Amino acid sequence: MDYTINTKCVQAGYTPGNGEPRQIPIIQSTTYKYDTSEDMGKLFDLEAEGYFYSRLQNPTNDYVAAKITALEGGTSGMLTSSGQAANFFAVFNICEAGSHIVSSSSIYGGTYNLLAVTMKKMGVDVTFVDPDCTEEELNAAFKENTRAVFGESIANPALTVLDIEKFAHVAHQNGVPLIVDNTFATPVNCRPFEWGADIVTHSTTKYMDGHAVQVGGAIVDSGNFDWDAYGHKYHGLTEPDESYHGVIYTKQFGKKAYITKATSQLMRDLGSIPSPMNCFLLNLGLETLPLRVERHCSNAQKIAEYLNAHEKVSHVNYAGLPEDKYHALAQKYMKDGRTCGVISFELTGGRDAAVRFMDSLKLATIATHVAASITMVLHPASHTHRQMNDEQLVEAGVSPGMIRLSIGIENVDDIIKDLDQALKNA
Ligand code: PLP
Repeated sequence: MDYTINTKCVQAGYTPGNGEPRQIPIIQSTTYKYDTSEDMGKLFDLEAEGYFYSRLQNPTNDYVAAKITALEGGTSGMLTSSGQAANFFAVFNICEAGSHIVSSSSIYGGTYNLLAVTMKKMGVDVTFVDPDCTEEELNAAFKENTRAVFGESIANPALTVLDIEKFAHVAHQNGVPLIVDNTFATPVNCRPFEWGADIVTHSTTKYMDGHAVQVGGAIVDSGNFDWDAYGHKYHGLTEPDESYHGVIYTKQFGKKAYITKATSQLMRDLGSIPSPMNCFLLNLGLETLPLRVERHCSNAQKIAEYLNAHEKVSHVNYAGLPEDKYHALAQKYMKDGRTCGVISFELTGGRDAAVRFMDSLKLATIATHVAASITMVLHPASHTHRQMNDEQLVEAGVSPGMIRLSIGIENVDDIIKDLDQALKNA
């Protein structure tokens, strides 16, 4: 039986047997016991499924990965110790020195650095494209060595909504998969596989956790991309892996090839596994994800409308507003047009007004985080982009008076009261 996402958030991924714990157990063990040397040997040849060392896999983590896989409608998934690790693994699993990727330029700054600086040092080149480009412009970014396309369903912090079908179509025309970071939308609002994406990643640190208690990441594979059809590009998946006695991932694991390779090679060698305790905490967040996302979004919608009508606010970015540039894309790709609980807005009074506003807030917390139950606020010019002067800020697309607000699940009237009293001082 196929249940709705609300039910999957509570029950998918773990089905206890008779007399077993009803809640996902925390298996806080690095090692697993086997009766014979041969039993364990088979694991090292990837001939049998099972656990041997928690740097690669752990049952608690796998239950939670299976839940997230079910939420996205994928065929296999894995958890990582952070969203950064998830995006790195997702790309590096199909790239190597000499590869090239195409990415939307409107992505989280940490991912931008990962692709533009760190992966470049590893020999993986990136071309950034405007997410609003035409299909022709997108097509022009491809090279003979392009191995993947990357974008965020809702970009942090620009709140751009990705035209997933356009990106998937052009990626597939060029024989490469589309990887979508679905952190801000969550599978409750958007399921990128339904629009042609091949791989989805998450910073589970955000809404999936929702309580700001653990840092984590996830990768889910749709199982739809035909690696064998482009075997010369993805030889790591389609040719023998000598570090695993010649296993050919696509032959032995079919639709699970991509995640099996990422687990058995990248997790083995780079070791970015989350702790079972963190996965347990993440699962508690997942159980209430649909309830919280609904509240985050309805609160954000009301607050975006309130700010939009305020005389001291010159502009509000939120795709829930009919006049927003991304309203139509949100209507198309997001359930009921709902995006997320993050809004950005600009004060007419610029930088000084933004600082006065921030300092006057009583309920909202000044914090470098988004997507938690607590309302949080950040002034990029004073915080994440502090080293830049006003001209540099404008060049980076961040105006001095811009504020990023992550709306929590408190009573919306209380949040508006707080914003209202703070705006009086702005
Ligand atoms: N992807 C997106 C969209 C994010 O917003 C973030 C962090 O803010 C990341 C990835 C990185 O995730 P983490 O902080 O869990 O490493």
